[in-house]
Amino acid sequence: MGLFDSIILKELCPYCGKKSEMEFQTKDLRNCLDVFEKGDSISTLKFHFLESIGACSQEPCRIRAIKRELMYRKEASSFGEAIFHADIEINKGIITGKVKNVQISEEYTDPWLNKKENKIKWEKEIGKYALKPKIDSSLLNELKQRKSLQK
Ligand SMILES: [Zn+2]
Repeated sequence: MGLFDSIILKELCPYCGKKSEMEFQTKDLRNCLDVFEKGDSISTLKFHFLESIGACSQEPCRIRAIKRELMYRKEASSFGEAIFHADIEINKGIITGKVKNVQISEEYTDPWLNKKENKIKWEKEIGKYALKPKIDSSLLNELKQRKSLQK
């Protein structure tokens, strides 16, 4: 597992349609766990966009991510995120805040999760995760703290 850098953007989730602050991880830059926001310079003119992976942890996506995890293992982490690929637009070395070419994975969609052969794997376990109160946005807070330290 290699390192990456993070971009925090307020964006619409392609799965749940909610707008929230999300972390987008990219490996196109220094991979030093740097944190960027809209309007920040990436200190190079090399890119027109950054390839990234966005993650939504809004409640509908959290639950779907946990269902998906339960498909692959018996226990899931209670903090789930639905992830998708996206290109983050760069203009003259500055992060514009626009997100393009979003590509979702069907494994985070209800039609796929609710297929009979899939549902049987998460159906019994999901209750205990669904009832758990949502963990606060500690991850994003941590990222913002890291960003304030790197200035
Ligand atoms: Zn979502």
